[in-house]
Amino acid sequence: MTDFALPPSAHFINGEWNSSSSATTYDVKNPADGSTLGTIPCADLPIVDHAVQSAKRALINKAWSDMPPLERGMLMNRLADLISANAEKLATVESLDNGKPIAFSRTLDIPLCAMWFRYFAGWTSKISGQNLQPSLQSGGSFHCYTRKEPVGVVAAIVPWNFPLVLAVWKIAPALAAGCTVVLKPAEDTPYSALMLAELAVEAGFPPGVLNVVLGQGDTGRLLVEHEGINKISFTGSTQTGKAILRAAANDLKRITLELGGKSPTIIMPDANMDLAIPGATQAIFVNSGQICFAGSRLIVPRKSMNQIIDGVSTVASTLKVGPGLDPETLMGPVINQKQLSSILEKIEMSISQGAALVQGGNRIGSCGYFLEPTILVTEDRNNTAFKDEFFGPVLTVTPYDDIDDIADIANDSYYGLAAHIFTENLGTAHKLAAKVNAGTIWVNTQLNPDPNIPFGGFKQSGWGRENGEEVLSSYTETKSVIMYLGS
Ligand code: NAD
Repeated sequence: MTDFALPPSAHFINGEWNSSSSATTYDVKNPADGSTLGTIPCADLPIVDHAVQSAKRALINKAWSDMPPLERGMLMNRLADLISANAEKLATVESLDNGKPIAFSRTLDIPLCAMWFRYFAGWTSKISGQNLQPSLQSGGSFHCYTRKEPVGVVAAIVPWNFPLVLAVWKIAPALAAGCTVVLKPAEDTPYSALMLAELAVEAGFPPGVLNVVLGQGDTGRLLVEHEGINKISFTGSTQTGKAILRAAANDLKRITLELGGKSPTIIMPDANMDLAIPGATQAIFVNSGQICFAGSRLIVPRKSMNQIIDGVSTVASTLKVGPGLDPETLMGPVINQKQLSSILEKIEMSISQGAALVQGGNRIGSCGYFLEPTILVTEDRNNTAFKDEFFGPVLTVTPYDDIDDIADIANDSYYGLAAHIFTENLGTAHKLAAKVNAGTIWVNTQLNPDPNIPFGGFKQSGWGRENGEEVLSSYTETKSVIMYLGS
């Protein structure tokens, strides 16, 4: 267990802990053993309103948006320093309530959060409009330019699979653009977000710039419907994304959606198997498969299918399954009982529809929510294993005979988040990258997003892009100024 106390199970609003009680509470569980870590009050309308008004005051008083950009950037860098200084505590909390291996939260989640703040700190001073030459007026009689203004108060709503990383993917660009934020972390993983908000105050952020409200879907809904919210940045399931889109239509809030996926990993006949097999294994089993862009469908040449399955199965069997806080663990539990039951049901349904189970398929033990790395094989594109997002450590293998069929198999999904391609042929890689309908294509590598590279989904995997310069347009409004200077 931990040798430090978790942060209070309380909202963090206007730079301070808010101890308001709530008629509705729930328990956060440790997924490694089902024990209770804390009891969370669900923010009701008065609390949500308090957080939104605090964020609005911080915006309107210009405490944040009017601060010289480099000063804003320096504060964001100071927050990055504090994340690094508190990395061990943050990593421990991340592994405690999410269950992810501490070996990963130490080396990936927390360092990435610091890097994302540093990257976007650099943008604060570079978000600018343009001088434009009018096309219908002559020479120097008009001066026209655009301004990039913060979109306003941002509601950031995130899931539990990368609790801090996904929050920071929203907070860092929003703050760089001069917006203020109300964050609602996922119900299962609230603690690292609370620690971040406290660190922001220690870094010197004005009160109200970053607020955290706790709760479940109902709290998210109150936030989405609040008239003081100008922009919603959501990551989560496609189903919730659609509900949020409908709610946001009421007052046309700006909205970006990062949703689900059923991403293909494609192994070409010429692939280097020493790269492709461990790559395909990592692409699905890291974070227990709870990655939106996990390579959950493996598309392989029929003649190599058995060799590939044996290889993936061998690599998967070396992954030590255990509690996230054990430094030896490489695969933790899934997040909760509901998720465990949902994955097991989908495995059963896939088998009943004709998929072959070649590895795993069972819960491990009865304490905690551990699942065996699982491999299913199906050629039936209507099979649940081919179509549905499991969001767990389950790989579906589908063989192909003709390389001309690969893009069609890969694209036969209502998702389009990402794809992995393994090939030794540069031409094949470029041609297939152009044909596959997905927001990110990794070639001969897997699962490595970058703050400078846009990320987001085609089709029902989302709307808009996170990261890179492109995300900044979703946290700014463009204002055109057209000025007559006289003839
Ligand atoms: P979820 O949609 O159930 O919940 C996500 C968040 O939305 C939670 O904070 C939840 O409390 C909140 N919420 C629920 N109902 C709401 C409503 N009506 N209004 C406002 N907020 C509401 O998703 P989940 O089960 O926590 O996460 C798993 C899903 O997230 C998977 O589908 C996964 O693919 C997706 N995901 C996508 C990305 C991406 O970048 N595309 C990244 C991670 C996870």
